[in-house]
Amino acid sequence: MTKKFETMLLHSVKKSDKPIKSKVTPIYQTSAFTFADLDELEGYYQGEGNYLYSRTGNPNPDELGKAVAAIEGAPEGIATSSGLSAILAGVLAAVKSGDHIVAADDLYGGSFHLLKAELHDLGIETTFVSFLDLSLVEKAIQPNTKLLYTESITNPFLRVEDLESVVALAKKYDLMTLVDNTFATPYHSNPYLLGVDMVVHSATKYIGGHSDVTSGVLVGREDLLTKARAKVVNLGANVSPFEAWLTCRGLKTLALRMKSQSYNARKLAEALRENKYISKAYYPFQEAEEGYGAMVTIELGQQVDVNQFFKSLSWVKIAPTLAGVETTVSHPLKTSHRALPKEAQEALGITNNVIRISVGIEHADDIIQVFEEAIRNSLS
Ligand SMILES: *Cc1c(COP(=O)(O)O)cnc(C)c1O
Repeated sequence: MTKKFETMLLHSVKKSDKPIKSKVTPIYQTSAFTFADLDELEGYYQGEGNYLYSRTGNPNPDELGKAVAAIEGAPEGIATSSGLSAILAGVLAAVKSGDHIVAADDLYGGSFHLLKAELHDLGIETTFVSFLDLSLVEKAIQPNTKLLYTESITNPFLRVEDLESVVALAKKYDLMTLVDNTFATPYHSNPYLLGVDMVVHSATKYIGGHSDVTSGVLVGREDLLTKARAKVVNLGANVSPFEAWLTCRGLKTLALRMKSQSYNARKLAEALRENKYISKAYYPFQEAEEGYGAMVTIELGQQVDVNQFFKSLSWVKIAPTLAGVETTVSHPLKTSHRALPKEAQEALGITNNVIRISVGIEHADDIIQVFEEAIRNSLS
């Protein structure tokens, strides 16, 4: 029987039955998957692979989770809608109401807020201490402590943490560990290989790398990732197929970008360290000659007018993010660390004069020039 016009519109659009061998994975932009009969449907529930519904699983997020797991040397990985939802899934895989967390006092502002406000309201308490002095961490451990949570490079002062000692402390008290590896990236650091249980990335940053996607990845121990996967599905924290696809595209060039960005960052940090109008230039200089990470944090001297400095930065834009291929600057006090209480900001040294630079892949000479010029043009 020939179909009527309305029916034709819907059912003439047909997927080809021929096996198509695209060079890269296509975007599975679909909310659900179809089944030929009840046996095939039952097969899905018996774990015979395939997919059911995109919130519970889709090839593009799966590809991203597996890729980052492989790169970090972990058995399992899951992609999520953002770095923060990956952190939430990881934390909830390790703790429940009544449990306690010891976390770094200089966590990314959004992560701090998640623990301090949202998880606190759900009966999960966190004590924040500096992980640069592990005796403080040890003192904060309580009988109900389940998790130690820190970042591999701290923000905004870029200190590299001794993760092996964190792992040893966790083992001593039978605690789980979660490390945010966003700043270091798997190019510089693989916390899972040092014994950390779960590693999280805001893939919005270096893994995506082009400031055009919001996504996250959690990788780690199989049993914990099984729990985390259930959280992602049940809380609806899945990433869209397109965002996952874009993140995978970014991931392929991570080494090229990090090599160039880390080199440029070290060069810039060396130049700014010599500038007499800058009171401090923070960079993990001792870690690697060729550069270690692409973030540089500076503290402008009192002679520099901070707002005039931002205005004088020519092609370098203020952006409350990091890790894109273009160099950008941010103001931690007014953005990433805005959520911290005033006393915490002061204790950490996050003042109005602290500027965080995310160094891009432009030529190092041009990057240095733009900052030196901005300083010259903003002296009061
Ligand atoms: C940006 C960031 C996050 C949060 O990631 P989103 O993708 O914005 O949710 C977490 N940790 C660190 C270190 C970050 O820089």
